[in-house]
Amino acid sequence: MDWSKREPWWQEIRGKVEAGERLSFEDGLRLYQSNDILAIGALANAVRRRMNGDKAFYIYNQHINYSNICVNLCRFCAFGKDKGDSAAYEMSVEEIVGKIQSRRHEPITEVHIVGGIHPDLPYRYYVEMIREIKKARPEIHIHAFTAVEIAHLANISGQSISDTLRDLREAGLGSLPGGGAEVFSPRIRERLCPKKLSPEGWLEVAGAAHRLGIKSNATMLYGHIESAEERVSHLLALRQTQDETGGFMAFIPLAFHPRNTELSELSNTTGFNDLKNIAVARLLLDNFPHIKAYWVMIGPKLAQIALNFGADDLDGTIIEEKITHMAGAETAQGMTRAELRRLIHEAGCTPVERDTLYNIIKPSAINAQQSAEKGS
Ligand code: SF4
Repeated sequence: MDWSKREPWWQEIRGKVEAGERLSFEDGLRLYQSNDILAIGALANAVRRRMNGDKAFYIYNQHINYSNICVNLCRFCAFGKDKGDSAAYEMSVEEIVGKIQSRRHEPITEVHIVGGIHPDLPYRYYVEMIREIKKARPEIHIHAFTAVEIAHLANISGQSISDTLRDLREAGLGSLPGGGAEVFSPRIRERLCPKKLSPEGWLEVAGAAHRLGIKSNATMLYGHIESAEERVSHLLALRQTQDETGGFMAFIPLAFHPRNTELSELSNTTGFNDLKNIAVARLLLDNFPHIKAYWVMIGPKLAQIALNFGADDLDGTIIEEKITHMAGAETAQGMTRAELRRLIHEAGCTPVERDTLYNIIKPSAINAQQSAEKGS
């Protein structure tokens, strides 16, 4: 790449990236305002290789969305429904455990559980859900409840955030997914999700979890009405929290899907914008070990390309995804381990199966399972 033909600020950013120095707010803004996607991607890819070599991660997981009934009704969400809506649903604990049991012969290492902010499910439902899942499959890591749900559970249980997290951990909770962060800008919150947990509240839950040794992820919903400044501020707020607690595992940029939302007049994100969000995140979030290209949202083909633009993780098999598909996602409901591995191989990376906490699943265990699958 010929850097000498680019504007002088590129030299400054490139020098910082090569020296492992932290990028500033202005640097982030310049990157977002640039259309030089190959230059942004080259820098992000260099950082990704420095942090994770040629490894690209995936996980054998199962998603469960226990209920879409939600009192918040955020304008960008096609999943959340009023209790009386004909598309509203809630699953009993038995149904949830049944879904997990139905896959008991598969080598799933994580169950990923999120739902809406339900007006009247009691606190004991959530604790029992975690406890019964753990009883059914003790070897599985339970990655459940966004910070928004945790704050709600604290509220209905009358306990502090930390005591609520302790309860859930005692029942079997392993870590928290990163949803609900959206964009921290007060302007966006006011216009799109005024009832949702505040940015301060979201960061408080993440911090409380990290202080208890419970890891979590972080997200940003992009591609709606947010500005480049608001994106950079969001990323820097996450970076600051990570400096303080070190408990975030991965950052996941979430591409907005407008269909069936109150913002349906907006367009889907473009591939260019998707790649830029992944690459800029890799460059700004120097203290996040992993950047995920969530294939459900940007499609497997672009997620594969993203492995050369800063991402080192594709998420996983999923099996049954509801949230993005209710907003018009045209991707499959799940992917096989073989498909994920092929995408990674062909991107020039080494596929590495991980568990939720990024412990590596030994290739010998995967080979043995694959042989058993072929033989069965
Ligand atoms: S984004 Fe979450 S909190 Fe908002 S309406 Fe959807 S399910 Fe509810």
